[in-house]
Order: sequence, then structure tokens, then C-alpha cells
Amino acid sequence: MKNKIQVAFRLDDPSATSDHGLEKAIVHIAKQNNVQFTFATIPFKNNDNPDPIYFRQKLNHISDAYNIEVALHGYKHEDISNLPKPSEFKEQDVKIQFEKIKNGKNFLERAFNAKIVGFVPPWNSFDENTIKIIKDLGMKYISAGWDPQYNPNYHIKLLPRTCHLNDIENAVTIARRMKKNCAIIPVMHHHDFEEHDTRKAIINLNEFERIVAWLSNQPDIDILSLKNLSIFIGHNQIHYGYKNQQLRAKVHWRLQKRLPASCFFYMPTWRYLLKSTLRSL
Ligand SMILES: [Zn+2]
Repeated sequence: MKNKIQVAFRLDDPSATSDHGLEKAIVHIAKQNNVQFTFATIPFKNNDNPDPIYFRQKLNHISDAYNIEVALHGYKHEDISNLPKPSEFKEQDVKIQFEKIKNGKNFLERAFNAKIVGFVPPWNSFDENTIKIIKDLGMKYISAGWDPQYNPNYHIKLLPRTCHLNDIENAVTIARRMKKNCAIIPVMHHHDFEEHDTRKAIINLNEFERIVAWLSNQPDIDILSLKNLSIFIGHNQIHYGYKNQQLRAKVHWRLQKRLPASCFFYMPTWRYLLKSTLRSL
């Protein structure tokens, strides 16, 4: 079909000690609407040596759900860097990074009895060694933010967070005006939901359910896991997507306002510019 918009929801931070009630409700919404979400799960949060069987039981709302893809979200999700921004991986020794990612991946695979192909670095922070390790371990994608300086030689699928939960409908409007294939990757945290934390919340479960139901009824929109999105988008397209975003970040603010964000526009740059200009006429 022409002009498909693909939406991949990523929930960060499920762990043995996270808010399982909220996660169950989110899994239920995925099932009701027959769509897939990706849960970026922390293997060793507050526990160096958990039993995989206990972990699986604690997270059986995820392990039993056929429509949840589990991705690896760091090791313990702890800030061990001396950098200005928190990080668990960036500029860490390559051997230590390798051991942590390998152990985390193996642990989640044993616990969930599924192959783990996605890596979501805590605080979206990683470096070139992390990319090499992900490739060496046979994983398929990294999902982080827009920040990393993408290099086509990485040859790994980088899938950035493109918007927050409360910006999805706006992102769809922009995507439709551009009349081109693109991806929208909203990242969710537990504290985004009123049911978890009324102070920081930007949405509640009813509103989230309404958005998912609406999206799943649109003929031009597919909701899918990050794993399936990484299969769908080619390396060249990822390259264009980052190039377009980097271009947007560099230009004067007057032009920047005319270049749409909130979506991963993975068409060639000339087309992105042309479509953006036509769109804003
Ligand atoms: Zn996190």
C-alpha cells in the first residue's frame, strides 16, 4: 500500500521490580487491538544474580503475551559514567560492555524463551564499541534517541525515539501531509501514566487505549514491534532518516520550523526537502 505510516511503541524500564499492574494494562490494550508493542526490559535491576525462573514468573504478563517483543534495556540501568549525562555504556571498557550485553541478552533469552534482537541503551547513551558488540552478538537493532552521529558504515539498524505519547496524533497529521512512508516511534515510561504517577503523567490508560484503537483502525497505519520495523526498513533508508534529521538540526530555525520532526522520514533528502516545502506552502 502507498504511503504507509508505521508506529512502533516502546515501553522502557519493565523489570522484576517495576509497576506490573500498569504493564498488564498495557499488554491488555495491545491484545485487545491485536497489535504488537516492544518492552525494553532491564535484566538485573537491583539484583546481580536473579533466578531466570523467578524472573519469568514475576514478568509472566510479558512472557505469556504473544504480542510483546522484549528488547534488552541495559544491564542494571545504573549510571556508572563520569560524563555530564548519565550512561551505563558510553566510553566504558569494551570488554565490560561486551560481558554486560552478552549476559543481559542470555539472561532474558532464558527467562522469556525468546531470541532478543533489540538493544535499548539506558538514557539513549552508547558509543561505537556498543554498536560493534551488538553486531557481534547477532542482534539486529539499537533503539535510542536522535543524538548519535549516525555513520552508514555502522551497518546496524538505528531506530530513534521520534515523539512522546501525547504527540502521536500530531505526528500522524504531519506524516500524512508529507505523503510518504515514515515511522513514528513513541517512547513510553511508567511515569507517563496517571495510574502510576499523577505528578509527572502526560496521559492515562483510557486515553492511551483510545489512541491505540484509533491508530489500529486507520488503513494507512500499521502498529508493529521494533523488531518488525527493523526488518521492514532497509539500511539505506535508516541512513536517509538520520541524514534528514541531522540536516534539520543544522539549519537556521526559520527553515527548521518548516522541516517536520516527530516522524522518522527515511526517504532521500531531496524528497524530504521537496515534500516539506510543498507541505508548508
Ligand atoms: Zn530506561
